[in-house]
Amino acid sequence: MITFLSGGTGTPKLLRGARMELPDPQIGVVVNTAEDLWISGNHLSPDIDTVMYLFSGDLNTDTWWGMKDDTFATHEEAKKLGVEEFIRIGDRDRAVHIARGELLRRGLSLSGATEQLCRAMGIGARIFPMSDAEVRTLIRSGTTTMHFQEYWVKNRGNVPVDEVIRSPASPVDAGDPALTLIGESSAVVIGPSNPITSILPILECRGVRELLEERFVVAVSPFIGDAPVSGPAGELMKARGFEPNSRAVHGIYDPLVDLFVQDIRDPVTVPGALRFDTLMTGPEKSRDLARFILNEIRSRGMAV
Ligand code: GDP
Repeated sequence: MITFLSGGTGTPKLLRGARMELPDPQIGVVVNTAEDLWISGNHLSPDIDTVMYLFSGDLNTDTWWGMKDDTFATHEEAKKLGVEEFIRIGDRDRAVHIARGELLRRGLSLSGATEQLCRAMGIGARIFPMSDAEVRTLIRSGTTTMHFQEYWVKNRGNVPVDEVIRSPASPVDAGDPALTLIGESSAVVIGPSNPITSILPILECRGVRELLEERFVVAVSPFIGDAPVSGPAGELMKARGFEPNSRAVHGIYDPLVDLFVQDIRDPVTVPGALRFDTLMTGPEKSRDLARFILNEIRSRGMAV
């Protein structure tokens, strides 16, 4: 088995390719939950949702969030009644958030709720949250501190970022199922996700780094030059005192990473890195990158 550490866009694109090369049950995914939030009484776990919908075949791959062909009747009706949701939630998507909220209210852990949802959706891959504890990424802009989703969705990233805050400040325990997945994997892939908001929250969970040190770890850079392929990773890297490029990403993951992959176009040199076309503009490009990574792992004698 091989496990991916994932956010909600770059790594899911790589997972799209991995599933063309491996049966779903041989794929594990440990997912960031530091962007989770409750809206209208229901529980959104944006990155888990994206990964689940990818594996269930429901994902809207134009946006990399929400379900394809969804309707927005509830969102629009609620707006008429004065409920302004700052995230446009589809009706079928909302059903998942309702179900998760209910499971959590009944006392299930987030891992337990995720397992139950995956089973109900007929998903063969093993998808688990990084932790069952509540972790949030907050953005401080001047004197205002907001949830990451408020910064990125409500404000469209159009406010200066003075600080990226993780709450709580001290590490939480990783989820047991997440640790089991990593422990059972012959290799772990850190996909091309946002290092600050998607990958570091996973690496910060107690127990994850120690396990990764014993595993063969491949990481793919989300940067080409001084810009990420998409999203706010550049701004957030700078706010944390890092240069916005692949060298700094490698530095953040070092010494966990055994193999670092950067794009063939990337002008930044990372000593020892492998080069490949990492721009996953369609399913075939995702497959090519996934196959390249799997072949590198296999060439080192590991079974995946
Ligand atoms: P989020 O949870 O929606 O922020 O998504 P992730 O953290 O999983 O992914 C966001 C990161 O994916 C950004 O930093 C992008 O640069 C990166 N990304 C998106 N598409 C691609 C791609 O095709 N190739 C590479 N190398 N990175 C990508």
